Amino acid sequence: MSSSELFNRAISASFDAFVELSSTFMIVEWSRRAETLTGWHREDAIGLNFFDTVLSHAARDEVLSDIGSITNGDGVLISPQREVNIHTKDGGFSLVQFICFSLKEMDPEGFIGVWLRDISQERRDEEALAAAYLHDPLTNLPSRTMFMYQLSYALVRQGATDGNVAVLFLGIDRFKGLNESLGHQAGDQALIQISKRLLSILRPRDILARFSGDEFLILCEGLAATATAIRLAKRIADAFKRSFLIGSEEIYTSLSLGIATSSKEAFDAETLLANADAAMYHAKNKGGNRYEVFREEIMATVIQRTSVEASLHRALEKGELRVYFQPVIELKEEHIIGVEALVRWAHPEQGILNPDSFIPTAEETGLIVPIGTWVLGEACKVLDLLATSLKGSENLSNSHGVIEVNLSARQIGDPNLITTVERALRNSRLHPNQLILEITESALMDDPEAALDVLKELKSLGVRLAIDDFGTGFSSLTYLQRFPIDVLKVDKSFISELSEDGTGYVIVKAVIDLAHTLGLEVVAEGVETEDELRILKDLDCDMAQGFYFARPLPIAELKESLA
Ligand code: C2E
Ligand code: CA
Ligand code: CA
Repeated sequence: MSSSELFNRAISASFDAFVELSSTFMIVEWSRRAETLTGWHREDAIGLNFFDTVLSHAARDEVLSDIGSITNGDGVLISPQREVNIHTKDGGFSLVQFICFSLKEMDPEGFIGVWLRDISQERRDEEALAAAYLHDPLTNLPSRTMFMYQLSYALVRQGATDGNVAVLFLGIDRFKGLNESLGHQAGDQALIQISKRLLSILRPRDILARFSGDEFLILCEGLAATATAIRLAKRIADAFKRSFLIGSEEIYTSLSLGIATSSKEAFDAETLLANADAAMYHAKNKGGNRYEVFREEIMATVIQRTSVEASLHRALEKGELRVYFQPVIELKEEHIIGVEALVRWAHPEQGILNPDSFIPTAEETGLIVPIGTWVLGEACKVLDLLATSLKGSENLSNSHGVIEVNLSARQIGDPNLITTVERALRNSRLHPNQLILEITESALMDDPEAALDVLKELKSLGVRLAIDDFGTGFSSLTYLQRFPIDVLKVDKSFISELSEDGTGYVIVKAVIDLAHTLGLEVVAEGVETEDELRILKDLDCDMAQGFYFARPLPIAELKESLA
């Protein structure tokens, strides 16, 4: 096959168009791809002047000079690659990559060959991508990237003046739950409606952008931007008192807002955004549906939480957690009837840490779910161990002793909770009746209706349920009656005020009487003195725990001290 035959084959197989020009720029060859690219058939194209008919006028000079350098004998055989527009037969344009090259080598009669590659689709795709990069396609709001540009410009425009640029970081409270219960399409509808309602409140010059899934940003600029932002936050809270109609569902939602303003310390876009984010996080942690203005302490809390979170992950993986046990005493006979499991963190540097220093973070991050599962598993295994070695062990024997385990609000909301409890029971020799799960009053009152369903399911496993820290929350008596509860644990703050003439006395007496009327057993928490014990016995309290009897201890030490 001669080289020109090979060339012809390459042309007909190529996705690029090929055109051959004569020295007067007449078209002498026109490949099939050139036909589809321009719409001109070969017969019509041949004989036309390439510059007059095909190439856009704007590219003429460049291309002529390229051809000049190829044909002037300097040895240049191929032009640089250009992007040019060409006319199509229907009167439109196509954007093409364009290369000219010498044909002399192949054919002494030949002059110039042209390769053309259609890149208009590619370019349209790129533009669509760039647009999506700057715009959120769902809500049609500016994207995070666009917002950051605007914020940077605003900061430059306002100069180093304090407080003339404010960023509001908005997070939708419990959006994940809404998305899961209503479905993602409804979730999308909600986001669109929320963005519209936000837009309707803004001043024309404020900028609203979508930051991520359920987070938005607002940029306020101008004199006293902080005050404006706070006013805006209040208006937003008001506007969200009205419901949203999603499909046929009427839903209510609220926002957590963080506000950060420009200052000498925070004068760049990234810092302002991070500050507003931290303030929003703070508002969420305070229960949501509120705004917080950024302060330095907020950042310190966020950093502290992030570092606790990271090391808590490690603690769980590396087995740094421990379970301590505190005896629960039956007051009539004054003997142990069970133990409460209380988690500790054997921190490699800081030693044994109490739950107060890490349970709140575990709650916020959801780590409490795997931690709680682990504690439950450990606790269920322990009763056998104790029963075989304790004085008065007949009361702790397999059918009588109880083990009390704390459940957090997060665990109540965990869809796997029932399976987790079932599995823990199956892996131990406990009778379900021996396991008492403790739930604080405030965890129950977070969402009483949902909690009620979970409690009923737990009850159906045969376990017993206790309300922990009773008296510190606001459970109404109606709920107390409706919840399938077996035990009330009176918070230690009341026990420590328990002298016969103190207010603690009246409250504890009332609680014990009420509990007995409802058929519940009562545990007094935090008993530290003999006096307290005596009064509790007089008041007919059923059980007690506290330092007076024993502190929480690791299982080995507990066995020793009780033996
Ligand atoms: P809680 O469930 O109310 O546990 C009782 C707390 O009172 C324990 O604190 C215990 O050491 C302490 N205590 C017992 N007797 C006395 C006393 O006589 N005087 C005083 N002042 N305190 C006494 P601890 O172990 O530091 O636990 C604190 C809280 O952390 C627990 O309160 C519970 O809410 C939470 N917690 C502990 N372990 C777990 C767990 O495994 N899961 C969950 N979700 N929470 C846990
Ligand atoms: Ca407890
Ligand atoms: Ca308690």
